[in-house]
Amino acid sequence: MSAKNRLDHRIFKRQRFLALTNFGISLEKNIADTLSGALKKQKYHLVGNHSAVKRCKWLYESIINDRTCYKQKFYGIKSHRCIQMSPSLYYCTQQCLFCWRAQSGDLQVKWDEMKIPKVDSPEDIIVGSLKAQEKILTGYKGNPKTNWRKFQEALSPKHVAISLTGEPTLYDPLGDLIQLLHQKGFTTFLVSNGTLPLKLSKLSKEPTQLYISVCAPNEQTYKQVCRPQFPSAWTKLNETLGLLQSFRCPTVIRTTLVKEHNMSHVNEYAKLVEKANPTYIEAKAYMHIGFSNLRLGFECMPMHAEVRKFAAQLAEKTGYKIIDEAPDSRVVLLSRLEKPIQVGNN
Ligand code: SF4
Ligand code: SF4
Repeated sequence: MSAKNRLDHRIFKRQRFLALTNFGISLEKNIADTLSGALKKQKYHLVGNHSAVKRCKWLYESIINDRTCYKQKFYGIKSHRCIQMSPSLYYCTQQCLFCWRAQSGDLQVKWDEMKIPKVDSPEDIIVGSLKAQEKILTGYKGNPKTNWRKFQEALSPKHVAISLTGEPTLYDPLGDLIQLLHQKGFTTFLVSNGTLPLKLSKLSKEPTQLYISVCAPNEQTYKQVCRPQFPSAWTKLNETLGLLQSFRCPTVIRTTLVKEHNMSHVNEYAKLVEKANPTYIEAKAYMHIGFSNLRLGFECMPMHAEVRKFAAQLAEKTGYKIIDEAPDSRVVLLSRLEKPIQVGNN
């Protein structure tokens, strides 16, 4: 496809998207109508005022086709017992090009993404998320390919991936949410963009594993790719990297790789890794899904071989070793450990 055709195709997709939604309505009404309407079409289950659960494709793959996600392969998390959720569905401190969430402006409606206006309690979010997961699972009852043992187990989820969309540290009681989840027997993976180091340092409870997204090697690329919503975000991200070693839980630097956008300057990535000294690095390809389709073309997804090449260069510069990979998800795991720590509790 030529560059012009690609651009036309993107414009066409954006117009089709807009045609599917109501827009031009007031700020208050937009979240209720435009956003929630568009998100429900993408199979989000909205929970309370600012949270959501979405079926991860690997939940389906595990129950129907006995294929599991790379986090099961790496860390023992059971895909069929995992809830993928967010307590900050519409809210984030960045507007990454590669993000699959609906960002302010995507659907011709704008809102303040930096503040959650009406804060739900951790208990309500957990109850709502469990109900949403149960609803998701009812869809499997009529499927002749359902693995019934896994289905029964799935009804008692054991892991929560706080990673769906948005920046979770914008939700003030995040530590309480994690604590309550752990009390109820869940393990948790928390994914943050690291722009709010103070919130992270004051978490009342650490997650089972903490991810910090580092998707640019320097400030210039960071501004182009991650599009921070406040001027000192790069400095703040670097502060977070500096405090990563104070966490007791395993830590991960997650790099979402977007072709022709953030896959160069490996030396500078290596310096960021050195500062954070994480337990792992996950180098992962951008996936052309969700609302990212409005911002990036299909050709921006690197192949697994390209992710591997990047990971090999990073390994050479950092001394980390490639210890596993999942070509289906185009992800490579690096670590100073010989083997990843298994955190799956079931
Ligand atoms: S750990 Fe992540 S990829 Fe695996 S099932 Fe849960 S949400 Fe999906
Ligand atoms: S930090 Fe995460 S949620 Fe926020 S815009 Fe980037 S990818 Fe999306």
